[in-house]
Amino acid sequence: LPRRERKPDWIRVKAPTSAGFAATRALMRSKSLTTVCEEAACPNIGECWSKKHATVMILGDTCTRACAFCNVKTGMPRAVDPMEPQNVADAAVQMGLEHIVITSVDRDDLPDGGAGQFVKVIEAVRRASPVTTIEILTPDFRNKHERAVEAIVAARPDVYNHNLETVPRLYPTIRPGARYYASLRLLEAVKKLDPSIFTKSGVMLGLGEERLEVHQVMDDMRSAGIDFLTMGQYLQPTPRHAKVRDFVTPAAFDAYAAIARAKGFLLVASSPLTRSSYHAGDDFAKMRAA
Ligand code: SF4
Ligand code: SF4
Repeated sequence: LPRRERKPDWIRVKAPTSAGFAATRALMRSKSLTTVCEEAACPNIGECWSKKHATVMILGDTCTRACAFCNVKTGMPRAVDPMEPQNVADAAVQMGLEHIVITSVDRDDLPDGGAGQFVKVIEAVRRASPVTTIEILTPDFRNKHERAVEAIVAARPDVYNHNLETVPRLYPTIRPGARYYASLRLLEAVKKLDPSIFTKSGVMLGLGEERLEVHQVMDDMRSAGIDFLTMGQYLQPTPRHAKVRDFVTPAAFDAYAAIARAKGFLLVASSPLTRSSYHAGDDFAKMRAA
């Protein structure tokens, strides 16, 4: 595999300087909301925030896990904020969001893994803005996933996303706290409980996975009834995170996308800068209109 130290030309991103960016940041600060855009050091923040697209991260900014690719800090999280559901709903209204993406850190310390807070946030956004479509990106809820998924599915988000992140062979080094098949089963359970909810998952490429392993992940996802797929280039947030093994070319991302469509995914986003929430609202609206 080719090894490169420097980022290739196709990874250039827009600097976060627009008025829209400043407005989004001010709103998030005023509502005491954390975003994965900032915490994960997302390369798209300049573009997304200038268009008032942000992914809210509930349940605090400190995660009980330490995945090798992730910039979110690890430690003992704070108590759950009872004002958070209303603050997320207020932000959705003020930003006039047609689609909101809500994610969280992993809260293995909580008895319900944080599922109850997801439910409250979904209900608060629905109440405040019934037209906003709601996409949630949840943790795997470890050994509590059955009850957690039941509770969240009953609140009826429009899209239920949970990322597989990488191929199963790389789990021990990249996603050590998680189990590949447990994540697949979680998404399968969502679809079985309520087939009207769209399920979604994603992987990062460039961590050392082989092409055929990626194809196998696609097959596993389709067997679990997963509707939408995202694929993007892994970028190392700091030198202490997992190294980039290779930069996948835009043409290779296109080739993966073509294969994914042939395998039956309803929505496929595959490009170097694709992240699970990148253009999520636009793509979802286009699919529903089609
Ligand atoms: Fe935030 Fe997602 Fe956009 Fe990244 S791609 S800046 S996480 S909304
Ligand atoms: Fe980051 Fe999620 Fe892993 Fe926590 S569980 S370290 S938020 S990827």
